Amino acid sequence: MSRDLTLSDSGRINPGGIHQHNRDVVLNRVHPSALAAFQALTSQYDRLPAHRTYQRLEQIFGDHGAHSTVNHRSLTGPDVRRARTRVRGQFRKNNAERRGNRSPNRARRCDRMSFKRELESNEMTARILDGTKIAAEIRAEVATEVEALARSGIRPGLAVVLVGHNPASEVYVRGKVKSSEEVGLYSEQHSPDDKATTEELLALISDLNHRDEIDGILVQLPLPAHVDAKKILLAVDPSKDVDGFHPLNVGYLSTQRPGLVPCTPAGVMEILKRSQIPVAGQEAVVVGRSDIVGKPVAMLLLNQNATVTICHSKTRDLPEVCRRADILVAAIGRAGMVTRDYITPGATVIDVGINKITDQKEFDRFFAGNRKREETFLAKGSTLVGDVHPEVAEIAGAITPVPGGVGPLTIAMLMANTVKAATLRRGLRQPELTRA
Ligand code: NAP
Repeated sequence: MSRDLTLSDSGRINPGGIHQHNRDVVLNRVHPSALAAFQALTSQYDRLPAHRTYQRLEQIFGDHGAHSTVNHRSLTGPDVRRARTRVRGQFRKNNAERRGNRSPNRARRCDRMSFKRELESNEMTARILDGTKIAAEIRAEVATEVEALARSGIRPGLAVVLVGHNPASEVYVRGKVKSSEEVGLYSEQHSPDDKATTEELLALISDLNHRDEIDGILVQLPLPAHVDAKKILLAVDPSKDVDGFHPLNVGYLSTQRPGLVPCTPAGVMEILKRSQIPVAGQEAVVVGRSDIVGKPVAMLLLNQNATVTICHSKTRDLPEVCRRADILVAAIGRAGMVTRDYITPGATVIDVGINKITDQKEFDRFFAGNRKREETFLAKGSTLVGDVHPEVAEIAGAITPVPGGVGPLTIAMLMANTVKAATLRRGLRQPELTRA
């Protein structure tokens, strides 16, 4: 027996007796690809367990029950239409790469077929935004730019200052020096021991500020507790401040003047740009307001005409605020805090968080059933998880993975910033990549 789906007075999509008029009104407002999928789902209904089907419909139409921003009264109203359009738009974007240069009609048929297939297989997941691939593209572009500068007798130089022996910092600094060599930059590392005083470090920074072959100075954080970190960062010549933390560069960013932009936020924008995710006019929500990530990423999104909301630990009803987002950026530092309740289906989710987990229970909370991850976890005794729970990939339109999302962009943007500093300092034309 085939059963129909209808909208009850409570606004939920319910199985059971159909109200034909309502059904026609709803179906006529839906785009053909969504309509085909809806019809496929209706005909599949008897084969799917009722609970699962209901969940899928909630995901597709953006109804998260009690947490939903789309309340039942708007099920035929603008909110749901927007949610549908977003899901549909995102779905089309997801398929754009797969369909290559096919004709528009064929592409549309292809969209419908694969949307239906994914619905039937119950596996509609977000497009993964591959940060490793994007970072490699950027490094290749930087290498080309370095070659071009070499023809004019310029070799951009980066100096990295690492104080003491923080194992994590040592790993980061090794990566930065190695990457510099790969793209053809000159680089040098300074490693004062952990007893170095603020005055000694200020003298080192002053020396680097005055050396013409050094275009970028990076002081690896955190500094030992006895060192006045703010004083050190303030001492870096703003034109060589490739981390973009100096107040002058912060001011340039907020007044849209050419300057050096913090690497991780700049990387977030490159991911969006190179994944053809529109920013202008979109609702962007940034969770986190640190000087290093949250604030600059919010400013970059604002500069590109997004409507931006910044959240933090005192924000009331965080999930509800996050559900406004077309683009959600999580920079919190709390493993898997952002769950599906925070997401409107089809939204783009950028996960900046890097959290190491070592506990099996925590592992199971995030990755139960993920054999590949478990093998690595058991072998290494730890794994990385972002601030976003992996379940979000089931309803987001696009998402950055952890690892392999925002992380690789940070070093790539440091390379780009060093070239940018070299060109800005000499009054040369900036490379395309870093002109934004
Ligand atoms: P941070 O300085 O500790 O800032 C964390 C922000 O999150 C703060 O603004 C804090 O709010 C907010 N927050 C904390 N708990 C919250 C909660 N329960 N609800 C809402 N907001 C909350 O961290 P960060 O330096 O920005 O780094 C954030 C994450 O990004 C970390 O996991 C870090 O490892 C990662 N990260 C990654 C890269 C990369 O290359 N991918 C680079 C830098 C950082 P308050 O201001 O109210 O305290």
